[in-house]
Amino acid sequence: MNLNGTISGKTRLLGLIGNPVEHTVSPQLHNTLASATNIDVAYVPFHVEKEKLEAAVKGLMAVNVLGFNVTVPYKKDIIKYLDECSKEALLMGSVNTVKNIDGRFYGYNTDAEGFSKSFKHETGTGFKGKQVFIIGAGGAARAISVKIAKEGAGKIYIANRTPSKALEIADMVNENVSSVAEHLDISDARTSKVFSSSGIIINTTTVGMYPNMDVSPIEASFVFSKEQIVYDVIYNPKKTRLLTIAEEKGCTVVNGIGMLFYQGVSAFEIWTGIKLQEPFLSDFYNSFKKVL
Ligand code: NAP
Repeated sequence: MNLNGTISGKTRLLGLIGNPVEHTVSPQLHNTLASATNIDVAYVPFHVEKEKLEAAVKGLMAVNVLGFNVTVPYKKDIIKYLDECSKEALLMGSVNTVKNIDGRFYGYNTDAEGFSKSFKHETGTGFKGKQVFIIGAGGAARAISVKIAKEGAGKIYIANRTPSKALEIADMVNENVSSVAEHLDISDARTSKVFSSSGIIINTTTVGMYPNMDVSPIEASFVFSKEQIVYDVIYNPKKTRLLTIAEEKGCTVVNGIGMLFYQGVSAFEIWTGIKLQEPFLSDFYNSFKKVL
């Protein structure tokens, strides 16, 4: 890598903290965005051990970084080390983007924004009035549930292996956004009927992710219809077992590459204050998909 002529005394630092971070494609995304927009920033990943999280945040402030991303497993833990967070990020219980504003760290969640933008870009439709079936009840499910409830989803069913976690998210959405959420036990008989009658299916679990790619998060007996949109937040592999089955049944299928891309774009816009425009964005997205 040759950085001669690109890093100057005025370059501001952006980064990513997480564990692991070695697999990340975010440096590619942000450094390419920086050079395409001629903004003098450089993005570097930092592998941070759990007991060093607070020290890492203080160190990033001490060297006056412009901002940073946060990935697994720190999206929740980071909140207590920040000065302020957006209301949405607090509801989601998850921060993946931090900006240094005049010596204070502000936290945001762009994962859900990335999901929503990617869904609309790939399918040409949104969530207003729709019945949505979410598989899983972890961090991604929580963020997506808040986002799509805010965007007017008519009904959100959350089905999880551990039903208590789905109940917790449903209660939080009903109390804080709108009364549209209900939890399901993924192994309950009623769940497969609700699944079949839902227009949008979203997998937010890790089931089917590399290297355990031969598994699906739902029972083989669940019935798809070709009118359904099936979105899997996993991007490695590009086509999970769930998406392969859904595609065979004629559903519209979308993987998590767009979510990854648009959460990065939203973070870049927060840090730099610029708004990336079409057709640049779509062209850039198409080239990003090819490098993954
Ligand atoms: P998380 O908080 O750890 O939640 C994991 C979820 O998967 C839980 O609902 C868990 O169920 C379920 N699960 C795990 N193993 C299971 C199994 N063997 N059988 C059934 N359910 C199982 O993880 P997360 O942060 O939400 O991330 C979830 C996925 O989203 C990951 O694949 C991650 O890469 C992806 N993601 C993608 C993007 C993107 O930009 N595309 C952004 C964020 C996250 P229990 O509650 O029962 O344990």
